[in-house]
Amino acid sequence: MRICELIQGKTPFISLEFYPPKEREQWGAFFEEAQKLKAAGPLFVSVTYGAGGGTQDNTLEIASRLKNETGFEPLVHLTTVGASEQRIADFLLDLKAAGIENVLALRGDPPRGVCDFVPDNEHFRHASDLVAFARRRFPEFCVGVAGYPQPHPESPSVAEDLAWTRFKVEQGAEFLVTQLFFDVRQYFDFVDRLRALGVTRPVIPGILPIMSLASIRFILSLCGASIPGRLYLELEEADKKGGSEAVREIGLAFATDMCRRLIDGGAPGVHLYTLNKAEACLQIAGDLGI
Ligand SMILES: Cc1cc2nc3c(=O)[nH]c(=O)nc-3n(C[C@H](O)[C@H](O)[C@H](O)COP(=O)(O)OP(=O)(O)OC[C@H]3O[C@@H](n4cnc5c(N)ncnc54)[C@H](O)[C@@H]3O)c2cc1C
Repeated sequence: MRICELIQGKTPFISLEFYPPKEREQWGAFFEEAQKLKAAGPLFVSVTYGAGGGTQDNTLEIASRLKNETGFEPLVHLTTVGASEQRIADFLLDLKAAGIENVLALRGDPPRGVCDFVPDNEHFRHASDLVAFARRRFPEFCVGVAGYPQPHPESPSVAEDLAWTRFKVEQGAEFLVTQLFFDVRQYFDFVDRLRALGVTRPVIPGILPIMSLASIRFILSLCGASIPGRLYLELEEADKKGGSEAVREIGLAFATDMCRRLIDGGAPGVHLYTLNKAEACLQIAGDLGI
């Protein structure tokens, strides 16, 4: 079912993000974790596409299996990396054949270690080009896009970042999922500014429960988001005194508190970055009582 229709009357909700494991041997454990997350009752689950150097080929198969074997409603990520009109059209046809109706249209990032993004194809320079193409050729899909409570690292200004975000919606995006952030004020400010620009589509906040110092360092280095200094110092202190378990406890409590404040403040739901692990997200869902 299309997410834009699913959202109606189902708020607040939880949704989840998975990434396709690189190796086939990891798939068994992956589907076991996904199965456990059924108990969280997610409205939809998203599957990344080539993120952080991962493979693109497995996205469709993982998403189809999550739909057919686990009963989740998938949102499939799609980027402009390596895109051509034929390749994108073929991918969307494959999604359609698999009964998948939701796509998150993204530009993608340059390869690790490369600073500037160089488009592979002049027709797909930005996520907005992908949105326009998908909406024109496959209007039956519900298309979402990324939003940035802290502006995208390449944006020269907040105003420009917001203007291009609005442009993606004008091209046909029907909902937004945000980049991770750690200050709920950034989310509410972002939504207020979009509303002031006439963007009325749902903005779903993306929340990463911090599970270890190593993983948060790695993730921040990939996505360019920042963490409040005080939170980072608290995590470091916890790591020194209580090790990884103490870090995990703080990360979990912080994420749960953020989710509660976001929902109380009017966010339609929360999109949890699972990192393919069930336990933390199950605990958050349980504590929120959604
Ligand atoms: C929720 C979420 C999920 C993600 N999933 C994946 C994934 O599965 N795979 C993956 O590889 N990456 C993923 N990413 C990362 C994403 O690809 C990067 O953040 C990327 O750098 C930007 O993608 P975008 O779709 O926001 O790009 P765009 O919307 O194209 O924006 C990129 C930059 O260009 C500017 N811009 C946008 N449109 C125009 C225009 N028409 N003209 C001039 N400037 C413009 C923007 O302001 C911004 O600075 C995800 C990000 C988020 C937030």
